[in-house]
Amino acid sequence: MHALDRTQTVTLAGAGLVGSLMAMFLARRGFQVEVLERRPDMRRETVEAGRSINLAISARGLYALKQVGLEDEARRHAIPMRGRMIHPLSGELTLQPYGKDDSQHINSISRAWLNQFLMTHAEGTGKVRIRFKQRIQSVDFDTGTLSVLDEPSGTTREERVPVLLGADGSGSAVRQAMAKLPGNTSTQDVLSHGYKELSIPAGPGGSFRMEKHALHIWPRGTFMLIALPNEDGSFTCTLFLPFEGPVSFASLDSPSKVTAFFQEQFPDAVPLIPTLTHDFFHNPTGHMVTVKSAPWHVEGRALVLGDAAHAIVPFFGQGMNCGFEDCVALDGLLARHSRWEDAFEEFFRLRKPNADAIADMAVENFIEMRDSTASPRFLLEKQVEKVLLNAFPGQFLSRYTLVSFSRVPYRLAYEVGAIAGRIVSELSEGLTRAEEVDLDRAARLVRERLVPFLEAH
Ligand code: FAD
Repeated sequence: MHALDRTQTVTLAGAGLVGSLMAMFLARRGFQVEVLERRPDMRRETVEAGRSINLAISARGLYALKQVGLEDEARRHAIPMRGRMIHPLSGELTLQPYGKDDSQHINSISRAWLNQFLMTHAEGTGKVRIRFKQRIQSVDFDTGTLSVLDEPSGTTREERVPVLLGADGSGSAVRQAMAKLPGNTSTQDVLSHGYKELSIPAGPGGSFRMEKHALHIWPRGTFMLIALPNEDGSFTCTLFLPFEGPVSFASLDSPSKVTAFFQEQFPDAVPLIPTLTHDFFHNPTGHMVTVKSAPWHVEGRALVLGDAAHAIVPFFGQGMNCGFEDCVALDGLLARHSRWEDAFEEFFRLRKPNADAIADMAVENFIEMRDSTASPRFLLEKQVEKVLLNAFPGQFLSRYTLVSFSRVPYRLAYEVGAIAGRIVSELSEGLTRAEEVDLDRAARLVRERLVPFLEAH
């Protein structure tokens, strides 16, 4: 029953970023794909803003797009960001490069554009049908039956599906149904910080009013503001702030308090955000969640992937990249296995440790972004790291480089990154400038600690 039969129709829950891309991969393998999406078609109707207007795509996401022939066009709509532009409370802006040189950059891309682009190309295969306004309410894995609400008519129907892939996001109905099965687990860790999007419009003639090729950060300890560039010259800002407490979304309860807070904390951003108080009180306050669940499949009947399996907080810019990497991994396994169950099982075994690793790194990066980026010691260590990246190419590797500019498994990036971080920290002790770093000692530490670890993996 669960043999991988290419004439079979696969049902996919969700036509978000991961669902639309997975549909393309399946179509290319010969499957017919039926996608059930609860939202209206965003190419035809205005859909509420939802999550982040733009996002950062890096090596893993771009590689996945390349596999389906879409990387070049996506790159044409993306803006390279070469480093973090730090906006301190007073004093000069500083650019902290992401990599060893400008060739190592991440890219800002519009979520809506990318999602529409993927849906259109998925449908363009002739094998994918996306049905909008269809909300999956529950799943019965014993009978392989979905309960689907047709939103326009308000009627619910039962649908028999031989194979179900759940790419229905962090609140996944498919995962919730799986979590009810004996022995399955699913935890949701909701961050005590929320986020709010604000906008910096383009300058005259579509010009950028801040450095275009950077991810801007105003790090302020327990909270921060960031901004990513858009193709039209605007920037989308995101304020990350605790929900409750003395400086929080709860405490900023009037336009005058919001204005005073911004003038005190982000003075250089205020003149750039003309609709600050309007946006602050009209735009939704988003939640961020880490989802860890196991297993991700029910025999060969159903599998969850992307945020549905492993939603993470956005501070490493990797949620979508990780979900796209899932698609590549599953596609490869479908080529090798003749039973769904074997492919699903190996997918879970391969991807779960990596999803857990990026989930933990994303939480750690929150502290780095909102707090450490403001400290001179952190800045020095980043500069020492850059010296080592250039001095020992292929031997010294940093966590950020491995996560964002390579496809090394996240688990390995985590472990190598920890060793590399300790080396940088030891070498930076007592330095005032990165150029003073002792390269002989550095070579010894790299040889003794990193090289054997890399050789063993
Ligand atoms: P989603 O994008 O959530 O798509 C799920 C789809 O399923 C949606 O279309 C939804 O309507 C549909 N759906 C849900 N429930 C049902 C149902 N019951 N029935 C039918 N359809 C359903 N990632 C990065 O890589 N880089 C970044 O810079 C980045 N920035 C981020 C910033 C913020 C503020 C946030 C919150 C996230 C960010 N992410 C980033 C993470 C990224 O948004 C997610 O990892 C990505 O959207 C996951 O894609 P997905 O398709 O799995 O889920």
